[in-house]
Amino acid sequence: MEDCVFCKISAGQLPIYKVYEDKDYLGFLDILPLTPGHTLLIPKVHCRWVDDVAEFGEYFEAAKKIGLAQRKILGAFTVHYLTLGFEIPHAHIRIVPRFENDGHGEKINWDLAHKLADDQMKDIAQKLRKELLTI
Ligand SMILES: [Zn+2]
Repeated sequence: MEDCVFCKISAGQLPIYKVYEDKDYLGFLDILPLTPGHTLLIPKVHCRWVDDVAEFGEYFEAAKKIGLAQRKILGAFTVHYLTLGFEIPHAHIRIVPRFENDGHGEKINWDLAHKLADDQMKDIAQKLRKELLTI
């Protein structure tokens, strides 16, 4: 879809910190993460909402792979799988690792989203990508 930022990412037209890719889905770090490792998983073809994705179960299974990698590699004690979908009109699952003392408490505090250094983003993406290649 024209002017859809995630379609542009899917087409390789914008730089990303890639974490995961299979034939249907692409996972990459959110540039404004809620916690380090916060990943977005999108269908490669344009879908407006998460439940417009043809293989809904398969889509969430792919998200789970990323969540498990976040737990193992980043030491997250749990992972949130968030689907809201108003910010960008292309389906995306936010996969947010949670850490002790990450400042969020029982609710996600959206005000805590902040940029991380390029080196840190590259390092996190590389570690997750490496782990996800083995799953
Ligand atoms: Zn799109």
